[in-house]
Order: sequence, then C-alpha cells, then structure tokens
Amino acid sequence: MLKQACLWTFCVAFLSAHCPAQPGSPAAPLTLIRAGKFIDVQAGRTLTNQLILVRGKTIEAVGAQLAIPEGAAVVDLSNMTVLPGLVDCHTHLADLADAEPLDVLKRTAAEAAYAAIPNARVTLLAGFTTVRDVGVYRAFNDVAMRDAIAKGIIIGPRMYVAGAYITISEGAGAMTGLAPDIQLPWDLQYGVANSPWEVRQKIRELAHRGADHIKVLSTGAVLTHGSNPKSIEFTPEELRAAVDEAGNFGLRVAAHAHAAEGIKNAIRAGVASVEHATLIDDEGIALAKQHGTYLDMDIYDEECIQSAPDTPADFLQHDRDLGEAQRRNFTKAVRAGVKMTFGTDAGVCPHGINARQFAFMVKYGMTPMQAIQSATVNAADLIGHPELFGSITVGKSADIIAVKGDPLADIRVLEHVAFVMKEGTIYKHEQ
Ligand SMILES: [Zn+2]
Repeated sequence: MLKQACLWTFCVAFLSAHCPAQPGSPAAPLTLIRAGKFIDVQAGRTLTNQLILVRGKTIEAVGAQLAIPEGAAVVDLSNMTVLPGLVDCHTHLADLADAEPLDVLKRTAAEAAYAAIPNARVTLLAGFTTVRDVGVYRAFNDVAMRDAIAKGIIIGPRMYVAGAYITISEGAGAMTGLAPDIQLPWDLQYGVANSPWEVRQKIRELAHRGADHIKVLSTGAVLTHGSNPKSIEFTPEELRAAVDEAGNFGLRVAAHAHAAEGIKNAIRAGVASVEHATLIDDEGIALAKQHGTYLDMDIYDEECIQSAPDTPADFLQHDRDLGEAQRRNFTKAVRAGVKMTFGTDAGVCPHGINARQFAFMVKYGMTPMQAIQSATVNAADLIGHPELFGSITVGKSADIIAVKGDPLADIRVLEHVAFVMKEGTIYKHEQ
C-alpha cells in the first residue's frame, strides 16, 4: 500500500506524462471545450457548435450533444474556429537560425542547446504541437531537446528527430567552407558516410541513440558552402541501403533533394518523403504518385533567404533560380494529386512564423482545406503516428488550437493562433 501511494505521488508530481490516466484523480483533469466552428480535417468539412471533452492528455468525446461531466473546466472557444494542433514536417529547432552555418563553431554544444530553447517555445505558441525535425549540425542536440520537452523541462512541440544529417564528405549536410587542416569535433561530422556500408553503420548508431527517423542528403544544397543543389550526392545504392537499414529498425527515411535525378533516386529507393523536391520533373511526379512518396516542399522560405541582410553571397546565387521553379513544381504536384505535407525548413526563416507558408500553398494551388490537411492528417501519416495526432478524434492526444476567424475563408488567420493546447495542457489562450 505504501509503495503504491508513493508511486502515485511520484507519478502526479513528476511523471504524469508517462502514467495512465486515473479516472476522477488529479492526474486526469476534465476539460470541456466549446468550439464555435470545428474543422474536421479527416472528412474535409466544417462543423458548428461542437463540444470536445478532454480527460488528462486524451480526447475522450467529440460531438454536439455531450453531457457536461461534473467538475469539468469549461473553455469557451465559441467565437473561434477550432482545429487540430498543426504539424511542421521540416524544422531545425535545435540549431540556431544563423545565416552563416559556420557560426556554429563560435559556440559550445551547451550554448547552442540553451540558445535553442526559445525556438521550441515560439513554435508551440504558434500552434505547432508536433514537429518532425530533420537534422542538426551538433549531433544529438535534437534528441536532447525532444527529451527535455517530453519531460517538461522546457516547453515545445512534440518532436520527432533525426539525430544528425547523413551526408557524403563535404556534402550538403556537412560543415563545409573550412580550411582542410581544421579538424572538426566528433559531433559536427557525425553523419558523414561514403558507402552503403558506412550509411548502414551510421543508421545503426543513430537508431541506438534515439533517432525517430533518418535524414539523408541526396543532392547538393542551397545553404551549404561549396555545394551545388543540382548535383547528385548519395548514389542509388547508398540510398537503397539507407531505406533498407532504417527499415530494419522500424525507421523511415526523409531525403533532401533539389535536383530532378536525385529526387527520382530517392523515390525509387523507397524514402518516405522528399524534402524540398525543388526541380522535380514530370517523371518524378509520376514516380511519387506511384510509390506513395510524400513531397514536403518548403515554398515560403525563399522570402527569408533573399531578404535577409546577412545571407552569404554563394547561398543567394544557389537560391536565385530555384525559388520560382520550386513553386511552379509545387503547383504541378498538387494538380497531379501527389501526397503532400507541410514543411517549412524553419530555421531558414525565423522560428515561429511557420504558418506564413500556408498562404503560399494556397496561392500556388492548394485549397485552404488541403493546406490544413497537409499540416495535420497527412503529416501524422508521414510521421507514422496517425493514431496519436493529426485530427480531433476520440482516443488521440488532446492537441487542439483555435483561431479568431475562418481559415477556410482566409488562410492567413492561421498566422495568429489564439489558443494552444498540447496533450491536454493549455499553453496559450487569448480572449
Ligand atoms: Zn532543412
């Protein structure tokens, strides 16, 4: 008995995130949300005057005619539109938004980790309750941030992380631009691999050390010194090894790719998503449809690259002819019916303005509902946890946001989220 009481006290105080909800106990508070408008992202429709009952961290009931249980706290969002917590499938929360990647060398790993804490906070308060983080220069800083959020040490979205970039030597995910006699510390070159077997070795280590997915660099990059976004980096056999080895650990692969051939190499290898997909051609679009590959296209961030006063000149040169091509290809992919997710490459633009991409997705061919679905149901499917988040559905995590106005009429209202609940806890509520 004593043991049980102690355990329960410990549970309430420190580990409520990991304990089963106890009906009627302090660990399972009841909250009833009155939703004026309610976006049902699964059915693609808007309902009115819905009630959402949250018990502890979980959605217990949704409907127009719910009895209000005794003791339930009522949250009145009857003048707002309620929708599931948003998901950004391409962030870099554990890195700082440096225009110059080499600035990472000016800080210790601990300095970078502390300085990145606000990135997580502003992302959550912008309505993003989950992110798929796809790489960090200091290996495993993202794993540490994910775990700090899960333990309640800092606030932020639920994170799924890559642990490091898997990249060829001097490739798109490497620290480049240094003199050849500079020896980098281990964590700034962790993911370098140059054969199928080296790729497999890195994935085995990353899986053991807490990665949720694998990030590979299939082509050159815009924001890497000495890199050509139109060049091929990993070979088809290295990409196949990545997908095969990741699959052995139940992990999915996200492939960075700008060049058309690199995009097709990644899709044929079986990656779950292509990041950027900038120069995808008609054959690539057909292959993505055939394989069910998600395209995660960051079509807003060129605004930030071109307007930032300190963007290095070689990055501007890389980007100049790619931004508009990517947007045209986004329109083609939407029209072709390719599966799409919402991913911003946050860190290129400042963290917390992720939602600005929605207006561009609508401008370049999506309906507002499609854009919202890309950041909810589709994102949950890509990450592999549709049972946990992505819609306001009984049994899922209570990740719920609200905005003043109707995002289906004006998608830009998503840039000002007034209410944020993650796992049943309210982080923001502007009246
Ligand atoms: Zn990125």
